[in-house]
Amino acid sequence: MKRLLGIILGSLAIALVYILANLLLFSSKQSDIEKIAPIKVTNAAPQHLSDAIKIKTISYDDPAMIDTASFHQFIELLYEKYPVAFGKMEYTFLGGMTMLFKWQGKRTDLKPMILMSHYDVVPVPEANLSEWKEPPFSGLIKNGEIWGRGAIDDKVGVIGIMEAVEMLISSGFQPDRTVYLSFGHDEEIMGINGAKQVAHYLKQKGVKAEFVLDEGGYITQGLVPGMQKDVALIGTTEKGFVTLELNVDVEGGHASMPKKETAIDVLSKAIGKINENPFPSYISKPLNDFIDYVGPEMPLGFRTVFANATLLEPVLMAVYEKAPSSNALVRTTVAPTIIEAGEKNNVLPTYARAVLNIRILPEESVNSVHEDLKEVIDDERVKIKILEKSEPASISNPDHPTYVMLDKSIKQVFGDIVISPYIMIAASDSRYFSKVSDHIYRFCPFKLNKQNIKSFHGINEKIGVEEFKDCVRFYHQLIKNGATEM
Ligand SMILES: [Zn+2]
Repeated sequence: MKRLLGIILGSLAIALVYILANLLLFSSKQSDIEKIAPIKVTNAAPQHLSDAIKIKTISYDDPAMIDTASFHQFIELLYEKYPVAFGKMEYTFLGGMTMLFKWQGKRTDLKPMILMSHYDVVPVPEANLSEWKEPPFSGLIKNGEIWGRGAIDDKVGVIGIMEAVEMLISSGFQPDRTVYLSFGHDEEIMGINGAKQVAHYLKQKGVKAEFVLDEGGYITQGLVPGMQKDVALIGTTEKGFVTLELNVDVEGGHASMPKKETAIDVLSKAIGKINENPFPSYISKPLNDFIDYVGPEMPLGFRTVFANATLLEPVLMAVYEKAPSSNALVRTTVAPTIIEAGEKNNVLPTYARAVLNIRILPEESVNSVHEDLKEVIDDERVKIKILEKSEPASISNPDHPTYVMLDKSIKQVFGDIVISPYIMIAASDSRYFSKVSDHIYRFCPFKLNKQNIKSFHGINEKIGVEEFKDCVRFYHQLIKNGATEM
């Protein structure tokens, strides 16, 4: 008994030493970059964003509802407001209304860089209109804020980049490497005619980019549990997705003499099994990067857990699994989105159909998910069909000079904040660029908190005037840093 107690105490002591050693070795990965004096951005810039918001470049799933005249009007607005940029850069239109600019660099031995954004927006449902404090397409500038759809998703990107380019060219700046700008017109409806065509076009031309920056992570405030400081999240990868259709076709009959299982029974059992057997949760490579970059900046309790993430993985996973937003970071998720069956009160359904929306972690694949689900359902009568798919993005390495340059640009403009790689859960247009560059980042240079996060595709979308000017400053600095040799 005494010996057993000794063994237990001894093991605990070893574990404690191990945990403490990990904590001591868990050192900060934050760079030591000074904020630079902010450049002057005139009030014309927020006015241009306001003008851009007023144009209803709305994407609808039904192509007949899309008002192409508005999209042309938006392009004309850019042409009118950025004469210097249009004069200096070559540009071409792909898929009709997606713009691709090429700003020739001085050195052909350097690979180009690509900045991406999109100028289409999601519709504002009629039912929500009354909840908007200011009309969604007013572009109103009031109390230091610019109101309307597209203010943060993602006309801020297009206008922010164009302002920076106009300023740089006007000041005589010439990039060493070629800079491409890609502004999609259909990101909100999958980017098939826009970004996908741009990626194809560039690949055909043999363009291999040093890095790509698209929308994605933000400077989060109070959104990373345990962190007081602002945390800029750079998406170094994004989840893939697959939409699966489950079909069940069985013999019919009369409801007065039901068979043991109707199509509804078979399908609901399949969905039940999927629910009971979720994909495993684990610390993937990009989540591990996040832990390495954010962990050392956290208060002692969190820091101890993050420093011992491998040892304490089950504890960490139990915490992450609690909230839907963090659960999505640690596993491939499955959401049934459509279910259809039955036609008449007294007729047994012969056919049932369900649609599953699945978001795939970067270290898995469409195929592995498909195979796993087939195994879980384990019923020949349930036919699985892939409706649409996109493989998870490759994982960009935060040790790479392009990440370091991006990190530096953020700190130069936003000062002393924590910067970390992370997994983007939603899909961005950049997913089409995997063959164009090995270093794809997803980051938007403005602050996201518990209030404005709801305005994404929601109500009362807006951005601060000063905040928008910082976006311009960021793109200005990023082009200066990124367009030179790293
Ligand atoms: Zn967007």
